[in-house]
Amino acid sequence: MDFKDTPREAEFRTEVQAWLKENAPKFNVNNSTRASLDPDEGLKLGKAWQAAKADAGYACMTWPEEFGGRSAPPIEQVIYDQEEGKYELPVGYFSIGLGMCGPTMAAYATDEQKKQHLPRMVRGDDIWCQLFSEPAAGSDVAGLQMTAKQEGGDWILNGQKVWTSGAHFCDWGIIVTRSDPTVPKHKGLTFFFLDMKSPGIDIRPIEQISGQSNFNEVFFENVRVPDAQRLGAVGEGWGVAITTLMNERLAVGNAPPPFITDLIALARETELDSGPAIDDTAVRQNLADWYVETQGLKYGHFRMMTALSKGETPGPEASITKVVSASKLQNMCAFAMELMDVGGSLMEPDATPHEGFFQEGFLYAPGFRVAGGTDEILRNIIAERVLGMPQDIRVDKTVAFRELPSGAQ
Ligand SMILES: Cc1cc2nc3c(=O)[nH]c(=O)nc-3n(C[C@H](O)[C@H](O)[C@H](O)COP(=O)(O)OP(=O)(O)OC[C@H]3O[C@@H](n4cnc5c(N)ncnc54)[C@H](O)[C@@H]3O)c2cc1C
Repeated sequence: MDFKDTPREAEFRTEVQAWLKENAPKFNVNNSTRASLDPDEGLKLGKAWQAAKADAGYACMTWPEEFGGRSAPPIEQVIYDQEEGKYELPVGYFSIGLGMCGPTMAAYATDEQKKQHLPRMVRGDDIWCQLFSEPAAGSDVAGLQMTAKQEGGDWILNGQKVWTSGAHFCDWGIIVTRSDPTVPKHKGLTFFFLDMKSPGIDIRPIEQISGQSNFNEVFFENVRVPDAQRLGAVGEGWGVAITTLMNERLAVGNAPPPFITDLIALARETELDSGPAIDDTAVRQNLADWYVETQGLKYGHFRMMTALSKGETPGPEASITKVVSASKLQNMCAFAMELMDVGGSLMEPDATPHEGFFQEGFLYAPGFRVAGGTDEILRNIIAERVLGMPQDIRVDKTVAFRELPSGAQ
């Protein structure tokens, strides 16, 4: 494991730090503005930041120049992300498009389609979403039921997707459908990209426990998609979906803040009956446990960076980061809310310490434990692919999809 930047990496880090110092504060979304930010204003700010980044050459740096990137080595993207992560910037709108849809388009779209769509994605002119999950197909996404039937040069899509992050503001999406129910479930899938404004698409935001609506139910009624927008061969959509999911593992990594440093700050300023919380043995024990976990994640991250620096791709062990950091986020935020006593049960920024930062984290964490692979699914991956343990028994792999028992049939 290598902890230090090479001279070239150090030089690049300095260049990035200078650019961010100059530009990031104009787009900063700090605690108080985040709580009061109107969703449309947030999106406008996000698009402006993405365009500024792209103009400066810091967006999608590993992508080729002709598609809006600069063919940089992956380690430079990691360095940029580390430095950008020190600011609170409106980058969330683009993570699915750039982290998953872009790489899938790059692998399967025609050159003409890539030239048309990727540079617009890089600049934030178009935002993309991922339409995989359905009410009865989440962890087992290959069990999806949305149908695609060919009619002349088009495909007609019918069915429902759910939990589609950002569908309400997205311009384009990638979608996996069932084109043949007579073959086993992984074999009858076909993959497309589509215009989210196509007639027949009905997008309904889902209200979350936090009061925000970040994801949606999306209904399809006779939605027409040109065959030219098929990615991969007919019936080979599962292979394309795997490309998206492998990129998801890399894109969904460490949990967002609050971090251990935020919790230590809270413990320093909180007075218990016995004195400052930071001096309390039970508080210190908890802080020490989360500090140790944080250090483990940090060194795991260094190991991935070392692999990237050598031009290697991090393996399935990347799943460990999300499993550990997601439950740490939830536990730390629950503890912080207890420390705040009655203030912990309030969300209003003016009425509670740190303007509801920990409460927001507490409400976000359960979703983060599910998104991009649940804790249990990631543990299965770690067990099977990192530790080499025997695979789960999968009895439905060789049976025609339409023969599988399902509540919808
Ligand atoms: C914040 C957020 C954003 C999301 N964004 C998107 C998006 O943009 N696009 C999209 O397509 N989807 C999105 N999703 C959906 C997400 O991919 C699914 O929620 C996830 O895959 C789990 O599927 P599910 O909800 O159907 O749960 P299920 O798969 O039904 O799981 C229910 C429970 O059973 C457990 N379980 C399931 N199978 C196994 C197994 N084999 N072994 C052990 N335990 C198992 C799970 O761990 C879980 O606890 C998002 C979800 C969240 C929370």
